[in-house]
Order: sequence, then structure tokens, then C-alpha cells
Amino acid sequence: MKTIIAGGRVIDAAQKLDGPHDVVISGKVIEKITAPGRGRGGSKEKFRLIDAKDCVVSPGLIDMHVHLREPGYEGKETIYTGSQAAVAGGFTSIVCMANTNPVNDNQAVTGYILGRAKEALCNVYPVGATTIGLADQNMADLGELKAAGVVAYSDDGCCVMNAEMQRRIFEMAGQYDMPVLVHAEDANLAADGAMHEGFTSTELALTGIPAAAEEVMVARDILLARLAGSRLHIQHVSTAGAVELIRWAKKRKIRVTCEVTPHHFTLIDEDVGDYSTTCKVSPPLRSAADRTALQKAMADGVIDAIATDHAPHGILLKQIEFDQAANGMIGLETALGLTLLLVRTKKLSLHRALEMLTVKPAEILRLNAGSLAPGRPADVCVFNPDHTFVYNEEVIRSKSKNSPFVGWELPGKVYFTLVDGRVVYTGS
Ligand SMILES: [Zn+2]
Repeated sequence: MKTIIAGGRVIDAAQKLDGPHDVVISGKVIEKITAPGRGRGGSKEKFRLIDAKDCVVSPGLIDMHVHLREPGYEGKETIYTGSQAAVAGGFTSIVCMANTNPVNDNQAVTGYILGRAKEALCNVYPVGATTIGLADQNMADLGELKAAGVVAYSDDGCCVMNAEMQRRIFEMAGQYDMPVLVHAEDANLAADGAMHEGFTSTELALTGIPAAAEEVMVARDILLARLAGSRLHIQHVSTAGAVELIRWAKKRKIRVTCEVTPHHFTLIDEDVGDYSTTCKVSPPLRSAADRTALQKAMADGVIDAIATDHAPHGILLKQIEFDQAANGMIGLETALGLTLLLVRTKKLSLHRALEMLTVKPAEILRLNAGSLAPGRPADVCVFNPDHTFVYNEEVIRSKSKNSPFVGWELPGKVYFTLVDGRVVYTGS
């Protein structure tokens, strides 16, 4: 049976399309995009109608940076519960990092994740580790991981400190024509820091992590990627200096891309306030000037993609002293809303916002996703940019609740999420 999503404003950045259209879905794929009311084309065939009046119809969102905690930490999140949170947030493809237990550094773990992913509500793409056990000692078998089905390599959560090792990782990944996603943070400079180094860290008497901890590694990896000629993607860029280094690299045609998280473009170090552990994250929330630089780089294209770094943690790892608390926050159900707040305040166009959440991550990882062109998978997000919702604990689909945005009223209520032509989420 066909499905017609009718009456909405279709925004497909990949096709530079923005206007009133109907989207016709046949089976698992997009059949065509037509003028409003023409979707049926005079045929008598039965079809299912999805009313998208006043809504934006977008390719399903893609999150190229999530932690699903399975295998090993299923109490925090499973692949299935992570997918529930994803589709509620409008995401139809998510890319999960390797820091599970065991670490995804071999084909057995990749195969396990892909097996579990079959039951998920959205597409789940695993990332393989670059070093065995994320231990920075021995390179993982990148060829084996690619054959097993990973879409990129990353030691995310850890930084490969050995520059010679990192050079060989870039060279090897280049041979397999795969991107390396880096958590750029000098482990010695970051040491046991708990938040951004600045006035607020001094005031709170917490050990700071200087912006330079990120910037020295961004600079190093840009130079190593240039040396190897391979593709570098910098994860969760958080400082103005890192943005400038990436701008420098892009001007010189070095193959670098990067992502920003909604929490880094929304919050700053001062939001840690009275030792709020939900604001403890790696890299840390930075200064107001850093946030402004991130927002500008999103608009001018130096930052390519938005990714959540969705990092579920149980209450026991957060209801403790700030410097002891775990890093990370959940993000799948707030990313669209926080991005739309930037659109509301005219810091970002809606077109650019959706580009960063759809076609850009698809391009970086070469996923068959991120566009509503005919023949593409029918992964769709239907949301109303003007309807708001209150993000409270009752609505959270993730198994964990560690978010500083609990209680926030956010725009962009998701009404329908479709994966492979099937409605997997309906907002009420
Ligand atoms: Zn990271």
C-alpha cells in the first residue's frame, strides 16, 4: 500500500527543495514528490494518508554520534531503547560509538550490535574502535571491522595520544577509504579536569580543562590527516580556536569535517551553576565567546553537522560530587528543539539547520539516507516548528534521564517518524 504525506512544507536540503509538496511512498522507498493534492495521480489504488498540515516534512534526521551502551551497560540504555528515543526525536538513523563492554574493536562485537539493531525502530550504524580496547596501544583490525559493517572508526571517549599511532590509523583508514572520527582532547592537559577552565571553574574551585586541550589535538590531527591524505572528522567541536583551525584546514583543502552538539551551542560553563552534574560533559561546556563562535560557524558552513553525543547514565553516576560524576548527557529527544531555538533567534536558517541534521552527516559517512529523492529509503520526519512541548521526565523515551534540559519548553514537536516507509513514532 502506498502512503502519501500531504499538505506539508517539504524541505530537502540534498535536493535544494523547499515548498508545499506531497511525498508519495511506495513500500520502503520514496516514489515521488508531487504538487500538493496530486500525490494520488487519479489512481483508484488504496493509500494511507498522513496529514502534514502546518508541518515541515524533512528527510529523517541522522545522528552521527550516540552511545547506546549495549553490549555491557544495558541498565543505562539498550540499542532498542536508544532507538525509541531516536524516533521520538525525529531521528531515523543513528551511529553508535565503540566504547561498549566489550569494546567494538572486532567483528564479533560489530556482528552482535548489527544483530540487535535488527529489532531497533531506526537504522543503527556501528563505529569500530581504532585501537584495541580503546587503549592506545595496538591498532584494531580496521579491515576486519569494515568487512563486518562499521561505517567509520573512532576511539571516541578517549583520545589517541600517540601521534605515530594516529598517523598509522589515518593511513590505514585511508586505504579502506573510511573516515576517522576523533575525540580531540589532550589527555594530559585535560587530566582530571571537571569543567572548562575559566572564571566559573575558579569560582567553583573545580579543576579546569583549558580550551587548548582540544585545540592542540585538532591542530595535530589536521596535520596528520594532511600527511596521510585521509578523511578526518572532528567530533563535538567546542572552542572558538578549534573552529578557526578547522577553517584554516578547509581553506587548504585538507579533508576535514566536524560536528557540534546541541549542548555546546546552547549552554556555557556558567550553566554548571550550583554544581549541576547534568551539565558535566566531555568536552566541557565552554565560554559565551566559544558558544558565539560555534553558532557563527554553523551558519557559515565551517561546522558541517549537528550530532548529539547522546550519553545515557544512571542516577548513581550523576547524584554525586561534581568532580566524581560521569561525563555526558542524553540528547536524542532535544536536538531538534534546541536547533530550532537557534532558528527562532535568527542565528541559523531552517534550511541550514536541517542540512546539518540530514544530508551532511549522510555525506560524511556515505549513508544511503538524508534525502527524499525518488528511490531513496522512505525515512521521514514530520514536525511542526511552531508547536512546542515541555521536555519532562515523563516524556523521555531514553532509559536514562540525565539531561539539563528537563523542564525546558522546546519548539519542533515531532508528529510522525517513518523508517523504511513504516510509521515508527506518532506524537500526540
Ligand atoms: Zn567524545
